[in-house]
Amino acid sequence: MSVRRGWCPTAWRPMAAGDGLLLRVRPPLGRITADQARLIADVAARHGNGAIDLTNRAALQLRGLGEAGWRVALDMLVDAGLVDADPVRDARSIMVAPDWRDGDDTLRIATALSVRLAELPQLPAKFGIAIDAGPACVLGDASADLRVERADTGALMLRADGRAGGIAVPTGEEVDAILALAKWFVATGGTAAGRMARHAAPLPVWATGNLRPRRSEGPLADDPRAYPLPFGRIAADVLKALTDQSGVTALRLTPWRALLLEGATAPRSDWSDLRHVDACIGAPACPQGSVATRPLATALAPLVIGTLHVSGCDKGCARRNRADVVLTGREGRFDLAIDARAGAPPIVRGLTHEQVLAHFKGLTRAA
Ligand code: SF4
Repeated sequence: MSVRRGWCPTAWRPMAAGDGLLLRVRPPLGRITADQARLIADVAARHGNGAIDLTNRAALQLRGLGEAGWRVALDMLVDAGLVDADPVRDARSIMVAPDWRDGDDTLRIATALSVRLAELPQLPAKFGIAIDAGPACVLGDASADLRVERADTGALMLRADGRAGGIAVPTGEEVDAILALAKWFVATGGTAAGRMARHAAPLPVWATGNLRPRRSEGPLADDPRAYPLPFGRIAADVLKALTDQSGVTALRLTPWRALLLEGATAPRSDWSDLRHVDACIGAPACPQGSVATRPLATALAPLVIGTLHVSGCDKGCARRNRADVVLTGREGRFDLAIDARAGAPPIVRGLTHEQVLAHFKGLTRAA
């Protein structure tokens, strides 16, 4: 086992966090059957601390594993088809639009890519590919470096992240185009930049285009199959109960802190009032964090109009985009910024949990 702090974890290479080893699972096509979900719940309860996180790249993280438990958990997850038996293939970050249907372009392209993963070059750990070829793209706000999307012309297009436009890709040639652009990224020094959006080299002529993605319809907020998870977390026993519900055949993983049920309507959840709030796990579970984040985020949620991001440090793992109100942990206190990303220059520094609450309660009274 190779464990490194701060590394982008996989199932094969877990990360040491403040609450034990963290193991990441990226199921094929972002889908787990009800039986697989029950197995994940069992593994999390028996070998971890029972906490399961759904990440903003639609992966699952099992937390709090010990070294011996990790090995047993890994074997069980590989046997169940949830983790690739090849660690290199398993490390590839492929996100699939969770509303894919049998016979559609998203499923076709994702399936074709899955059998050619070995042809991808060695890419930075965070490099991701999004297959988002439905009638309108829904993964526009999710983190990815290469995107296959639906253009506003109706054609399928390939776009490098950070570039407004992309190129049309003929049907059946999408994976060839993905592989070629990934190889160009590595050959032109993109590995040093780490992400496509930070790679300043001009795209090759063949990959330069003006096609625009068809506007995203956004997260499936009103979808009756969507089961929201507070801060993306679900306990093992809740996951099991969800899959034991009558009619549930499978779950789709989304990057929007919600699971999508196949075969049933989602049960009611009390957490819809946290949809506008993002908060990472913070201290003590994350060694980089110096503050507890979620208690403050929960207390602040009803006091903040607009989006709220509480981050344990300036890395801002929970939200890559700006939020209306941002609190960033620093040396055990919070810095407050407005309309910003985590770590942005604050308007007020060094607030305690209580001072932040008092500030927003005061604003609410004054309004
Ligand atoms: S943003 Fe949160 S989860 Fe990410 S490194 Fe900082 S404290 Fe940890």
